Amino acid sequence: MQTVIDRYSRQIVLPVIGDRGQRRLLESTVLVVGCGALGTVTATQLVRAGVGRVRIVDRDFIEYHNLQRQVLFDEDDVQNQIPKAKAAERHLRKVNSSVEIEGIVEDVNYTNVQRLVQGVDLIVDGLDNLETRYLINDAALKYGIPWVYGAAIASHGMTLSILPGETPCLRCIFPHLPEPGSTLTCDTAGVISAAPFIIASLQFVEAVKILTGARDQVIRTLTVMDVWDGTTYHLEVERSATCPTCQGMYEFLQAQSGTKTASLCGQNSVQVLNSKAGRLSFSEMARRLEPLGTVSYNDFMLRFAADGYEMVVFPDGRAIVKGTSDQATARGLYAKYVGT
Ligand SMILES: [Zn+2]
Repeated sequence: MQTVIDRYSRQIVLPVIGDRGQRRLLESTVLVVGCGALGTVTATQLVRAGVGRVRIVDRDFIEYHNLQRQVLFDEDDVQNQIPKAKAAERHLRKVNSSVEIEGIVEDVNYTNVQRLVQGVDLIVDGLDNLETRYLINDAALKYGIPWVYGAAIASHGMTLSILPGETPCLRCIFPHLPEPGSTLTCDTAGVISAAPFIIASLQFVEAVKILTGARDQVIRTLTVMDVWDGTTYHLEVERSATCPTCQGMYEFLQAQSGTKTASLCGQNSVQVLNSKAGRLSFSEMARRLEPLGTVSYNDFMLRFAADGYEMVVFPDGRAIVKGTSDQATARGLYAKYVGT
C-alpha cells in the first residue's frame, strides 16, 4: 500500500482529491471510446491517476499521420500494424501495471454498444464522429452512466459533461445529425495537436470530479475554446423538452437512425446507407476531397479514390466503398471522407 500512496502522493495532497478521492479512483471503471488524439490523452491521464479499470475501444490501425497528435503511439506501432486499442493497452501497462487495462478492437455500433458500456462508472468520449456519439448518448442515458463529450478539430474544440437525468444530454444541444458531407473532419480540415490535448485534459478533470463524487463541481456549461486565438467561452445549455433521448426514446440504440452498412457479396465492397442524408452537394464535396485523393463527379455520382480504396457516393448519401469487405472499415472511410 506504501507504493500506492507514494505513486499517487502528488494528487492525494490536493484537497479536492485527498485519500478519499484516490480510493474512489482506484475503485472506478472507465470506458474510453475512441483512441485518437483525445482518447490517448484521457486514457494516459486516467491510467496514471490510478483509475482501477480502463476499457479502451477503437476500430482503427495506426498510421503515420496519427503520430503528430496521438501521444500513445510510435513508429513501431505503425510498422507492426498494431490496432490503436491494443497499442494503447500495451503502452499503458508499462506506465501503471496496477491498472486493469482492456483494449478492445471494435467498431462501436448499435449491435455492441450496450455490451461495451456494461459495468462502467463513466464514459469518456474520444470519438471522431457525431453519429457514434449519439449512440453513446443513448446508451449512457439508458443506463444512467455519466459521460464527458469532447471534440476537437483545426485549432478549436468543445467539451460538455453529461449527468443523465440531471444535465442536458448531447441531443438536447445538437438535436440532429448534420448533413453528410457538410461536416469538417480532421482529415479534411486538419488539426493542431494542442486543441485535442487541451480538450482531453478538460475531459479528464471532469471525469475525476465525477468519479470522486464532486458532482456539484462539474462544469455545467458547454466549454468552447480556440487554442490559436486563445479564446474560451462557457455557453449556457438547457435540457430540451422535445429531446427524444431524454424521453427514453433511444433511436440510435434501435438503429432507427443513422448509417447502416451491408457487405456486397463477392465484390470486395460494402454499401453504406445513411437514413439521415439530405441531398449532397457534389461540387462542395469535390472541393473538400480534392487535396486528399482523386475525385471526379457528374450529376449521378461522385467517385473518390485514396489510400487504396475507391468510393462511389450517390446524391442521397448512399455510398459503395470498394477495396474492402469489412463493414467497420467502410463505415470508417465513410465517416472520414463523407462525414456523418
Ligand atoms: Zn436530451
